Amino acid sequence: GLAMILVSSCLAGLEVRYNGSHSLDSSVRDLIKNGKAIAVCPELMGGFSTPREPAEIVGGTGEDVLRGTAKVIEKSGRDVTELYIKGAYETLEKAKEVNASIVVLKEYSPSCGSTMIYNGEFQHKKMAGIGVTAALLLKNQVKVVSEEKLHSILAEIE
Ligand code: SF4
Repeated sequence: GLAMILVSSCLAGLEVRYNGSHSLDSSVRDLIKNGKAIAVCPELMGGFSTPREPAEIVGGTGEDVLRGTAKVIEKSGRDVTELYIKGAYETLEKAKEVNASIVVLKEYSPSCGSTMIYNGEFQHKKMAGIGVTAALLLKNQVKVVSEEKLHSILAEIE
């Protein structure tokens, strides 16, 4: 079918973030409104609900999680790695299903971050790195961009 853009649900304005908020981006909302994009939330697809505990990747990045050398841990200590991996695979399936030309993902998330994530210390500190879903998409040659970089490529994808 016609290639679609897949976008993080929270960027589309859905209140699906861990704390029940959204991260509305007006360009993303317009893509949805114009029928060019559909919204997905890897964490909900992995089996989480909203609200949920904040989680960070501990011991590396999303690439390391896929390799089995890092974990995703909730603030209170629960290991949720498997749910994050499940959400990543579900998102990859969706991207294939809609023949996604590009996936626009919320920066800094342990699932969706594509250049920066939190460093695993739960101290609100960021580091260079990629989330679990973004890592799996890239590994499968699916193009990924953050909402921060979307604006510079909008002309190309519209
Ligand atoms: Fe869901 Fe990704 Fe947004 Fe987190 S950043 S709420 S996983 S869409």
